[in-house]
Amino acid sequence: MNIASAISRLGTESAFEVLAKAQLLQSKGMDVINLGIGAPDFKTPENIVDAGCKALKDGYHFYTPAKGILKLREAVSSDIFKYRQVSVNPENIVIVPGGKPTMFFATLMFGEPGIEIMYPDPGFPIYKSMIEFTGAKAIPIRLSEEDGFSFSAQPILNNISEKTRLIIINSPANPTGGVVASSELDKLAEGLEKYPQVYILSDEIYSKIIYGNNKFHSFLKYENLRERTIILDGWSKTYSMTGWRLGYGIWPNSLVEIAERLQINSNSCASAPVQVAGIEALLGPQEYVEMMLKAFNERREIIVRGLNQIKGFNCIKPKGAFYAFPNITKTGIKSKELEELILNKTGVATISGTSFGDYGEGYLRFSYAANTKRIIEAISRIEKLIGKD
Ligand code: PMP
Repeated sequence: MNIASAISRLGTESAFEVLAKAQLLQSKGMDVINLGIGAPDFKTPENIVDAGCKALKDGYHFYTPAKGILKLREAVSSDIFKYRQVSVNPENIVIVPGGKPTMFFATLMFGEPGIEIMYPDPGFPIYKSMIEFTGAKAIPIRLSEEDGFSFSAQPILNNISEKTRLIIINSPANPTGGVVASSELDKLAEGLEKYPQVYILSDEIYSKIIYGNNKFHSFLKYENLRERTIILDGWSKTYSMTGWRLGYGIWPNSLVEIAERLQINSNSCASAPVQVAGIEALLGPQEYVEMMLKAFNERREIIVRGLNQIKGFNCIKPKGAFYAFPNITKTGIKSKELEELILNKTGVATISGTSFGDYGEGYLRFSYAANTKRIIEAISRIEKLIGKD
């Protein structure tokens, strides 16, 4: 086929493949429990749905400015101030269809052959996919269970070369639920002062999904690095709006026009009525978000306890996001094989740790954004298959 060679370097997100397999088994009559895909099982809050419907009736049928409706960018700015205590000019915000486009734009801006971009491993698979697509070299930042799947600044700083242009970080993290300590972020920020050519893309899409005494720390707080910091966030996870496709990037002055141009070249703008719904999500009541977080927290306790009862499984408690990432090495089965075995024999969809990078071998990801009864049922089916500790 005469297509561009870069296409052969594009990876994928296995969650969508597992979803397709699960749906196939379901169509054959199997009772499938999907703990694979990272989508909250709650409906989008009604006030947000109503705002979206009203927007359509009120005539929001047309293109908006490429960067997004000003009122929405102002709402994002006030939300940032409320949750991150940092002032952001709405002109530095670009509204996009979901979390992914900001990742796409940032990687396209920096990636090319001869360049190195660092990314977390295990981590969201699209980071590596996009880096390699651009021809840049993807340098993994190894996250380990011993560190609670957080990261230390020093190994990252040690890996910076004259070819490094961008470092991608993600906290709270997918697939591990790890949350980085503010002391490590401080060290990273301090260390980066020596490398003025290096930019940071901080994926903060799970910023509001954090449990107990754990605290979210945004990379936005380092004023001296603001000109080199890109923040990715969005509505998908916090407001249970994965299918609406709404997210944003906060860009430094020097990059915001390039982000806008990439938007004009790709999406034109995010959907107009969805943007209006996004304003309601940020400025409207937040009780529903608190209710979802409470439910995730309860499920977290249940799934971690349950997973630790399965023979050969060992699961540390995630601090944020809605994923459990048990170590399954003691089962003696490789991750991908175990994913397939569990799906085919019990109808429980999970995702092999290797779908998140080479360092994900020995782990399985369970999304606990599913209802409690189904989580309990899933654990009991796996326990019957693998055995009890
Ligand atoms: N970043 C991370 C870490 C994610 O887990 C996801 C979605 N699973 C995204 C970005 C993309 O979000 P969206 O679906 O809004 O594009």
